[in-house]
Amino acid sequence: MPRVAVLGAGPAGTSAAIALRRAGCEVVVVDPAGPSCAGGAAGLDTPHPLSLSAGSLGAAGESVPPSISGALARLGLGTADLDRDHLRSLGTASAWGAPDLEYRDYLLDGLGPGWHLDRTRFDRTLRAAAVAAGAVLVQDRWSSASRTAKGWSLTCLGTRLTADVVVDATGRRAAFGTAQGARRCFADRLIGVAATVPDPAARRHVVLEAAENGWWYASPQPGGRLTLALLSDADLVRREGWARPMGWLAALRATRHLDVPRDEPSLIVRDARSHLLTPSAGRGWLAAGDAAMALDPLSSAGVTLAIESGLAAADLIATGQVDSARHRQQLRCRFDAYLRQRREVYRAEQRWEGPFWTRRREGVTEARHLVAR
Ligand SMILES: Cc1cc2nc3c(=O)[nH]c(=O)nc-3n(C[C@H](O)[C@H](O)[C@H](O)COP(=O)(O)OP(=O)(O)OC[C@H]3O[C@@H](n4cnc5c(N)ncnc54)[C@H](O)[C@@H]3O)c2cc1C
Repeated sequence: MPRVAVLGAGPAGTSAAIALRRAGCEVVVVDPAGPSCAGGAAGLDTPHPLSLSAGSLGAAGESVPPSISGALARLGLGTADLDRDHLRSLGTASAWGAPDLEYRDYLLDGLGPGWHLDRTRFDRTLRAAAVAAGAVLVQDRWSSASRTAKGWSLTCLGTRLTADVVVDATGRRAAFGTAQGARRCFADRLIGVAATVPDPAARRHVVLEAAENGWWYASPQPGGRLTLALLSDADLVRREGWARPMGWLAALRATRHLDVPRDEPSLIVRDARSHLLTPSAGRGWLAAGDAAMALDPLSSAGVTLAIESGLAAADLIATGQVDSARHRQQLRCRFDAYLRQRREVYRAEQRWEGPFWTRRREGVTEARHLVAR
């Protein structure tokens, strides 16, 4: 079995590591965040074209749907940790296409609960599971790689490693894949401007509200907190001054269903562009999770898909299909299907004609028409 270096210990990297260990591979996981902290998911995905001085680390307020339990079961993990460390989510309430909130209740739909995640704890649990499965976790940042006769020589800030195969699970930056010449095909310029504030209402639903040039979400967090985020295109955020507290608060006041925090918010900016890494694999490497394909946060599917993508990457490695043309084609088809579905969701909102909405209603639905950068 190959020796595998997994770069990134988010949900994709840790899931790949667990499955690779089960398949008998020697696995080293490299992440600057180390065993006990959240990394990229909780941090900023800069550099970004908006090039803002984006403030301190902070969570995006991720919520996961009931389907997370199936993905965790495939890792051999139950939902007891979710119930202990996270907040049960009842579903979503959205004002999308109409001004009033429409509730979608997971439990009433018979799907079981979702969860509002504490991402630091969630990632810590997955990292502990990877270590328990026998993976070696190295707290470092991968920086460069060269090919050897057998595989790779990897240089991190303070460590040198060799590996037969590399999994790029570095999140939206796709650090390893892009260093090998792969390009990211971006479908939009979406960014999230978010603040986490006290939540006296102690909500259990994610609230989504469409606005004239973007959309908002309010996502409860464990510990009586609430993440409020405005999603819009980088050029519109810049034009409207929404990455500054006064501009962001003014936009929030224009919503119908979201409460305005009393104190001035501390804002973070998150890259939220949809992209497909092209190619998503090469000789001796493949990408998993957001590094391979990143979706609009509207889907609330990123964490679940990252786990599934990590499992799929492990399977390809264990079966000797690292650079599989079939897999690359499948990923492209899935991204095309996602682009079509995304257009339909945005077309369901017809109240505004501003650039944010027209770009999405008329957006391309095939990755081959996107410009690789
Ligand atoms: C605004 C916003 C809201 C979102 N809301 C949701 C939601 O509600 N529900 C949901 O399911 N998803 C949501 N997502 C998506 C979700 O955060 C991601 O899909 C998920 O974190 C992807 O997991 P990953 O393991 O691929 O990457 P990440 O979680 O980004 O992990 C990447 C890891 O790689 C490490 N890394 C980076 N560079 C290096 C390097 N050079 N060397 C070594 N390690 C490196 C980082 O430290 C990090 O730990 C949201 C995203 C955004 C932007």
